[in-house]
Amino acid sequence: TTMEYRYLGKSGLMVSCLSLGGWVTYGGQVSPEVAQMCMKTAYDNGINFFDTAEVYSGGQCEIDMGVAIRKFGWKRSDLVISTKLFWGGKGPNDRGLSRKHIVEGTDASLKRLQLDYVDLLYAHRPDPDTPMEEIVRAFNFVIEQGKAFYWGTSEWSGQQICEAHAVAQRLNLIPPLMEQPQYNMFHRDRVEKEYLPLYKNFGMGATIWSPLASGLLSGKYNDGVPADSRLAIEDNAVMKRLRESLESEDGRVKISKVVQLGHLAQQLGCTTAQLSLAWCLKNPNLSSVITGASRPSQIEENVQALQVVPLLTEEVMEAIEAVLLNRPVL
Ligand code: NDP
Repeated sequence: TTMEYRYLGKSGLMVSCLSLGGWVTYGGQVSPEVAQMCMKTAYDNGINFFDTAEVYSGGQCEIDMGVAIRKFGWKRSDLVISTKLFWGGKGPNDRGLSRKHIVEGTDASLKRLQLDYVDLLYAHRPDPDTPMEEIVRAFNFVIEQGKAFYWGTSEWSGQQICEAHAVAQRLNLIPPLMEQPQYNMFHRDRVEKEYLPLYKNFGMGATIWSPLASGLLSGKYNDGVPADSRLAIEDNAVMKRLRESLESEDGRVKISKVVQLGHLAQQLGCTTAQLSLAWCLKNPNLSSVITGASRPSQIEENVQALQVVPLLTEEVMEAIEAVLLNRPVL
């Protein structure tokens, strides 16, 4: 498979349209060695963009991903590394988007990653308790210091992002370039509706997370929770909630839709995961689809989604809509 690279929003930076993140998995669910094997498989398949966050496994994700980046001697210019700030620890000033935490949090992340700079730095959530001017000034400062090249947001509302742009414009500072929202077949409204003016008016790019809804859209949970899957992790509150949600009415409806998507995938000669990822890749407003993987074979499978994109004709897309029944009303 030949990887496709897309501009990150209106910027001149190119990111692989499929990227790899470490949430839950690296520094947590799997050993450093498995994380390294996954990252190498991704790199060897043309993935240049790797995503982490200060909060992932309490910092261990950045450490393990940093070790992998060093180990293979990859050229720094061949990589796009991102991290995200918001939850940096227990202290009152270890969290949020104060100037203090943005500056100190960036330094702490770089240290864990063993890097001089990250390419992308995200505000992991909005912080209504910090003035927007303080937030924009702080990210601008970190970029001017050379510790990041671009900054962006994650799970901010369209309104909050507009406010950041207004502040940046007024003060002649660098505005956010990209958003990192959840996007998958079951979670569409923001990316397909709320953010439309952001792509158009600000040239923002979207780098989306959980394209498989944590694995649900691979079909692996159709017959229960496999012991070697993330939903089986006992001591993780988020995974526990997801596991329990499968038992709910909503969960059962979702699984029945995944089963139907599996039939469509079979007709196309691909896997359910590949169909779900290809469906995301069809969206031209996405700069990158951030995937996750607990083993190299998943990455090998997932990069093949690129070959499925051209198979998603209007007819197939309509067949998918007929299963999902959640097309946003524009
Ligand atoms: P996905 O929804 O793609 O889930 C990935 C998980 O699904 C894998 O770890 C694996 O878990 C399983 N999986 C992947 N491929 C396959 C396959 N082909 N067959 C079967 N199972 C498969 O993405 P994530 O939820 O991991 O999110 C991706 C990245 O997005 C994160 O790493 C992080 O960087 C970012 N993110 C950002 C957030 C934010 O707030 N900004 C929030 C969440 C994620 P397993 O093998 O354990 O079952």
